[in-house]
Amino acid sequence: MIIPVEDRFTEVQFQEVQDILAEFSCSLSPIPGTTRTIYAIRGDERHELMINRLEGLSYVARVDTIQSQFKLMDIKSELYNHEFGIGGKTLTRDLLVVAGQCTIDPKNPNFFIETAHAVKEAGADVIRGGIWKPRTSPHTYQGSNDAVEILLRASEETGLPVNTEVMDEDQLKIAIDAGVPMLQVGARNALNYSLLKKIGIMTRGKGTLVLLKRGMHMGPISEFICAAEYIVAAGNPNVMLCPRGTLPALDGYRNHPDESITPLLKQQTWAPVVVDPSHSVGRAIYVPHAAMAAVSYGADGLCIECHVDPRHGIGDDPKQAITPRTLAQLIKDAGEIYERARKYQEVYNHHEAVPAG
Ligand code: PEP
Ligand code: MN
Repeated sequence: MIIPVEDRFTEVQFQEVQDILAEFSCSLSPIPGTTRTIYAIRGDERHELMINRLEGLSYVARVDTIQSQFKLMDIKSELYNHEFGIGGKTLTRDLLVVAGQCTIDPKNPNFFIETAHAVKEAGADVIRGGIWKPRTSPHTYQGSNDAVEILLRASEETGLPVNTEVMDEDQLKIAIDAGVPMLQVGARNALNYSLLKKIGIMTRGKGTLVLLKRGMHMGPISEFICAAEYIVAAGNPNVMLCPRGTLPALDGYRNHPDESITPLLKQQTWAPVVVDPSHSVGRAIYVPHAAMAAVSYGADGLCIECHVDPRHGIGDDPKQAITPRTLAQLIKDAGEIYERARKYQEVYNHHEAVPAG
């Protein structure tokens, strides 16, 4: 990773660095952050001569050669100071709440518009709405481009940013062209490296946030962080990690709740953790408990399914969506827990034994 002296390299500087890297069979990939751009070295960056030559350039401040599978996502990476936010909230400083329907029903657009207003009223920062859905059975509702307009209308009417899942390049393009500020990669695509790369490339420098769900069958935590590394290495460092339950399910829940991995993630990576309690436990009555647990574990945000009339929703909503009334209470309580939980994060961020205060 190359850190420039100025905010970014000029074209001439970029070319000179690229030429040096090419001699060692490496290449350069810019990662534009909010205030500065850093540059990932693709290939084996351990050549001593290459590093010496790069560090000899007056416009190069430093070359970091972190030996990690996820050197950009690593807590020791230069990106440790990278901050981003949405809806007036800064991730890792404020609790971010993303809430809304699992699925937008194009036949009943008013439900989504009403949900959007209610979710705003309840205190959410981002409205979520599924346009295209990864469904287990091909015979169930798969989503529709018609929902794009409904999602945008909800954003326009409420003034809140929106989040939607993309499963392929066509959907990605539609969502980017529509100006959707937060994209979701679902659990089923969490290891779709081609899609992850495409997202990184196509959102590079656009300020788009990406919520990466944890795959249902993911193994070590490093596998999850490495998936996010694909997006960052391709050019977008605004990635949030989203535990959402894994398989096999805990008897009675939809999945095996995994909000407890939050501290483990936060010890290894600077990336914010936004937990999805809805898909984890899978039933509305359990969601507030899982949400409180997530924030207690140090989550930076929550992504929750909510519907004004869950019984008349489609997709997961009849089972999983909480009502806006429950959401309002949950956001209030989560805010209190968030403030308390924060001080425990200081412990491992600064390697102290006991939190202050
Ligand atoms: C969803 O968010 O509605 C969804 C399908 O999520 P997941 O990919 O976590 O199953
Ligand atoms: Mn859902």
